Amino acid sequence: MQDWERLAERMVETQLRPRGIADERVLEAMKSVPRHAFVGPGMEQSAYGDHAMPIGEGQTISQPYMVALMTQALELHGDERVLEIGTGSGYQTAILARLAEQVFSIERMRALADRARRTLEGLGISNVAVMVGDGTVGWSEYAPFDRIIVTAGSPTVPESLLEQLKDPGVMVIPVGTQGMQELKVVVKEHGRTTIRGSGGCVFVPLVGREGWETE
Ligand code: SAH
Repeated sequence: MQDWERLAERMVETQLRPRGIADERVLEAMKSVPRHAFVGPGMEQSAYGDHAMPIGEGQTISQPYMVALMTQALELHGDERVLEIGTGSGYQTAILARLAEQVFSIERMRALADRARRTLEGLGISNVAVMVGDGTVGWSEYAPFDRIIVTAGSPTVPESLLEQLKDPGVMVIPVGTQGMQELKVVVKEHGRTTIRGSGGCVFVPLVGREGWETE
């Protein structure tokens, strides 16, 4: 798509910066990842709009602001190993891949995982591993992780994810009902875990052993 850089730039200046996204590395990543590559055919033109969008299988790609807010909360410096639950389109994965060393991403729906892998490969993003499975139990083979991001709504903070978070480490996760959640920022430091709320949000349900039983 022609001229997407201009749309991405405008997205950053009108949707992200005025709402308090101030981490320049996050803003730069949001400018440089082609969001239109992660949406279905015919939807490219509206990919940079201020909203979530359907990506098939009843799932959605999050609103740009939510992607930026969650990424900023992770406080990435570049040398982190990040676990992501809910690959979806792979867009959030691509943003993380620019800002961290390695991203391990889990998606429960094979069709979405396959498509995300292809999109990421097509963009030359290679510091990402995508697995099909239940992310609520984490990915013990590569644990512990410096950062964990969950992009689906959970009833609680899954115990397995808390265990697989490094000390020091940060996890962001929407916690609440299936219809509405609060974005929680979980910080592990000096052997202690603290959780603070960071505003309301709406995500599709996290379905798995330590999440919801069904959608
Ligand atoms: N971050 C994505 C949006 C994800 S939507 C993006 O940028 O496009 C949430 C995704 O979480 C959906 O694709 C859904 O299938 C997935 N999901 C739900 N429960 C899951 C689980 N237990 N493990 C892994 N993925 C899960």
